[in-house]
Amino acid sequence: MQRPHAVVIPYPAQGHLNPLLKLAKLLHSRGFFVTFVNSEFNHNRLLRTRGPASVAGLPDFQFTSIPDGLPPSDKDATQDIAELCESLLKNGLPPFLDLVDTLNNAGCPRVTCIVSDGHMSFTLDAADRLGLPAIYFFTTSACGFWAHSHVRGLIERGIFPLKDECQISNGYLEATEIDWVPGFRNMRLRDFTSFVRTTDPDNVMINYNLIQTKNAARATAVILNTCEELEKEVLDAQRQRFEKVLSIGPLHLLERAIEDPQLQAIGSSLWKEDDACLPWLDQRAPRSVLYVNFGSITVVSTAQLLEFAWGLAGSGSHFLWVIRPDLVIGESAVLPRDFLQEVAGRAVMVGWCAQERALAHPALGGFLTHCGWNSTIEGLAEGLPMICWPFFAEQQTNCRYLCRNWEVGVEIEGAVRRERVAELVRELMEGEKGNEMRLRAEEWRDKIRAAAQPGGSSCLNLDLLVNEILLKK
Ligand code: UDP
Repeated sequence: MQRPHAVVIPYPAQGHLNPLLKLAKLLHSRGFFVTFVNSEFNHNRLLRTRGPASVAGLPDFQFTSIPDGLPPSDKDATQDIAELCESLLKNGLPPFLDLVDTLNNAGCPRVTCIVSDGHMSFTLDAADRLGLPAIYFFTTSACGFWAHSHVRGLIERGIFPLKDECQISNGYLEATEIDWVPGFRNMRLRDFTSFVRTTDPDNVMINYNLIQTKNAARATAVILNTCEELEKEVLDAQRQRFEKVLSIGPLHLLERAIEDPQLQAIGSSLWKEDDACLPWLDQRAPRSVLYVNFGSITVVSTAQLLEFAWGLAGSGSHFLWVIRPDLVIGESAVLPRDFLQEVAGRAVMVGWCAQERALAHPALGGFLTHCGWNSTIEGLAEGLPMICWPFFAEQQTNCRYLCRNWEVGVEIEGAVRRERVAELVRELMEGEKGNEMRLRAEEWRDKIRAAAQPGGSSCLNLDLLVNEILLKK
């Protein structure tokens, strides 16, 4: 029998690349031949930041790339999300079909399935044409995916688009309870994707998400980087709408069981990791350091950067702050000299770090996060209580679940102010409420880790996925 061959294609952004690569490695460790498809932009960027070894692959785990349809660029910065979405929708299918055709004539096993990011619906068109099973992977939380999937319901009820921009700030978002979505708990309009905060019915991101979530019904299986223990109610509700929904997370924990060191070593970070913070963490007392990181897409104004800086300084806490080179809108982040003097000895700032390793360090006591789903589940898996500052998309939903349903987070609401940041950091790191959140976070950690162990729910779901693909071969 021929070896199964999975073509794995992420949406070309860091928060998608990471979990798709982990899933690809897991499929390889279950016997698959894998072709991992980056965008040319990201392929070239990986070559620049991580060197040729990063995309050299292995004889049966190969990297390749297709164009994203945007003008070529060698900027090491996050691409415009809306432009990228529109371009992929318009231009993605032909090069992808060509690629599968080339692979089928390249002497490797014939392609037997497509494992695609849930934001790349052209891959479903390709799977239909080629008669291949299509696994559709949404890299959001199940609750985030579910909120995106119910924007249609907001439209039908006349809630989206907003009638007036004033509704964004006059309490309407908070007051509008969403109690008609099965599986949801404690949800308000405010906790839906931030893309709904507009009066524009033709908002690019809303339309893109409507297309992608609708298309999920065409997939052989929908998979999510979460676990039953964390999101069972929502996952069960999704099973009423989609034929097969498998929770296979956290993938970074499942990945750790892979035995092949060469495969383990393949990374997907688009920025160069600065490891200087790890020895610094080694010097700190257990649970004494706040970790601050807003992921790969969030941008802040200079004023917001300063509010965070002085808030962190005022908290008196030790902290590790990751300040991406393109974090500040339109300029490079410059921190005032008196701030640097004030925090000297108790703070380290780096441009990008190996986040999974940092989060696993015993010196960490809390996480100030933008609530991107990868960061959220990576933080939960380490039992860290969180201060939440959601930036966009379904980060609002993750924030609500962290604060209200999992009870391990507290949100910075409204405009960021230094006094509030300092107060929340002190409460998280030293206060009674922070301690309660930490204990709950540790309970979640234990459940999540159990899911990723052999025999745990996520491991069993990975087996189901593999069997599903092999059956359709
Ligand atoms: N990440 C990292 N180093 C950093 C910042 C982020 O390795 O300094 C990784 C992080 O571990 C996560 C991903 O980048 O896997 C960011 O994804 P997330 O969903 O948290 O946020 P996004 O970047 O999509 O907003």
